[in-house]
Amino acid sequence: MSIQALIDELYLEPVYGLSQQEKDQKILPIINALTLKHEECCEAYGNILKVRNDSSRIADNIADVPFLPVRLFKTNLLSSVRESEQLKVLTSSGTTGQQVSRIVLDKDTSVYQTKTVVKIMQHFLGKDRLPMLIIDHPNVVKNRQSFSARGAGILGMSNFGRSHTYILNDDDMGIDWEKLVSFLEKYSGGPVLLFGFTFMVWKYLIQALEKTGRRINIPNGILIHSGGWKKLVEEAVDNETFKSRLKAATGINKVHNFYGMVEQVGSIFVECEHGHLHAPIFSDVIIRNPLDWSEMPANEQGLVQVVSCLPLSYPGHSLLTEDLGVLLGEDDCPCGKKGRYFSVSGRLPKSEARGCSDTFQENRP
Ligand SMILES: [Zn+2]
Repeated sequence: MSIQALIDELYLEPVYGLSQQEKDQKILPIINALTLKHEECCEAYGNILKVRNDSSRIADNIADVPFLPVRLFKTNLLSSVRESEQLKVLTSSGTTGQQVSRIVLDKDTSVYQTKTVVKIMQHFLGKDRLPMLIIDHPNVVKNRQSFSARGAGILGMSNFGRSHTYILNDDDMGIDWEKLVSFLEKYSGGPVLLFGFTFMVWKYLIQALEKTGRRINIPNGILIHSGGWKKLVEEAVDNETFKSRLKAATGINKVHNFYGMVEQVGSIFVECEHGHLHAPIFSDVIIRNPLDWSEMPANEQGLVQVVSCLPLSYPGHSLLTEDLGVLLGEDDCPCGKKGRYFSVSGRLPKSEARGCSDTFQENRP
């Protein structure tokens, strides 16, 4: 059976309904097939596998699947498809001077990514498109040639909404009250989707409302946000604080953060009502010891490794990130979702990241 046929079968399953064991049986053959495919089609990846001690490419469980450091996509363009099959090259966001990741997508991978986000998001939002408030300014998506990751994220999420309304002004990032009030008059009686990047929501919605002393009331609002906690951690704002201050300023009860990265677009990990990030059927998560990369037991902090069935066009099906996280459990979240759930607690400090690669050098055979 082709990898595509195996992936297609995943869409017939409930996104969070299989136990970890049942899920492993479904996705392990796909992940192993991806290892073989990328070894064959991506020379650099093949060379990396060659220097591993272990000659077996077929892992007996997900934790044994070889992984690449996500950073490699910042320094190398790793592709498993011919140039003529490349549909687009995604780039990560990054401040000036920082290296960005480049991810090669072909048609199949691109289609799977879109389809997967739809399947995951529908679990939380339902099938109807909801009136949508975007916590950003309209210019962020205007120049379609040079899209920022922020713009791309907004456009992606826009598929789940209608009557898209950007609530910030282009010039000063202040709230466009006229737009916001007329949107709320029209729609706030029913469910409303709000989307923004975590820091934007914090600074330009929550804090902006707090500063002006104005409050809005969107009791049926569902906020989806993503983009990392780095800046908020610097301001000592955790997820609980974020949610309670959001509720006080806007009346919004339903909030779903999600964790994902451009190197594995599509297989996102969405937060449930208990604040836990859940692995959908398309992906999995493993927490590793940053010193020796062994698998960490639950409730101990380590590096987050993400595994995804979707990357057909580049060897990104198993990636070790530089994010720190904790595995919280398996199959037993009080929300009822099966599979693994975890939290992300921040990023590995630079110095430790270097220590990590030093350790790697020392341990090399
Ligand atoms: Zn849960």
